Amino acid sequence: MSQSIRTQVAIVGAGPSGLLLGQLLHKAGIDAVIVERVSGDYVLGRIRAGVLEQVTMDLLDEAGVGARMHREGLVHGGFDMLYGGTRHRIDMNALTGGKNVMVYGQTEVTHDLMDARAAASLPTYYEAADVQVFDFDTAHPRVTFTHQGKAVTLACDFIAGCDGFHGVCRASVPRKSIQEFEKVYPFGWLGLLSDTPPVHDELIYVNSPRGFALCQQNPQPLLPASAADRPPARLD
Ligand SMILES: Cc1cc2nc3c(=O)[nH]c(=O)nc-3n(C[C@H](O)[C@H](O)[C@H](O)COP(=O)(O)OP(=O)(O)OC[C@H]3O[C@@H](n4cnc5c(N)ncnc54)[C@H](O)[C@@H]3O)c2cc1C
Repeated sequence: MSQSIRTQVAIVGAGPSGLLLGQLLHKAGIDAVIVERVSGDYVLGRIRAGVLEQVTMDLLDEAGVGARMHREGLVHGGFDMLYGGTRHRIDMNALTGGKNVMVYGQTEVTHDLMDARAAASLPTYYEAADVQVFDFDTAHPRVTFTHQGKAVTLACDFIAGCDGFHGVCRASVPRKSIQEFEKVYPFGWLGLLSDTPPVHDELIYVNSPRGFALCQQNPQPLLPASAADRPPARLD
């Protein structure tokens, strides 16, 4: 049981990068197939980002998927910074000539991109096992995977590795071909999801002797009325 498919671009990973790239390519008349390791429900249950910069809002509009974001997202023209025991409001909108940030959950962006993809009947293979990339530096790259017990080969012109730091694409590139620019900080983030009313109407960044904290809101409740249709929220 095997199948060969020809496409211009094989996209590995159906997170926001892969889905947005797929949508932009579709708008440009370039066909693409997306291959994702986990299920669509799993991707939608993966709570991560909540704040979109202006450049991201503009890109979502350009991709034709910004309508619900503008209806349901919360526009913030500034934020508060707390340090030395004093609170300072930064009027970002005035200081940048009109730029804002939008509080709109990454899962909602993903949802909108998935809906646009489904509406255009564009192919996405979820729960693809053993995804591997071959010959990506030649004129005839290939992506292979197993889907519902069938071995699938995607023959393409380009492979877009949108599968994150720990994905198969990065791991397939010889280490000497990757030039990294990185600053590693000796601490990490601890994210806590809380289903409570917001403490403030804009973001708050806090520097204190006990470390740095960010308090941000998500306009969508973690468990909305239609939660029965949604997988439980996770932070991973
Ligand atoms: C707690 C947290 C808060 C954040 N807050 C913000 C914020 O406020 N604003 C902001 O802009 N950003 C924020 N970010 C960053 C943002 O979430 C990431 O930049 C974004 O998820 C990157 O998207 P991506 O599509 O590149 O990667 P991912 O979302 O990681 O998607 C990669 C996809 O590839 C799939 N994949 C992996 N391996 C394979 C494989 N072998 N084969 C096939 N598929 C594979 C994965 O299942 C996944 O679906 C936050 C991140 C975290 C963790």
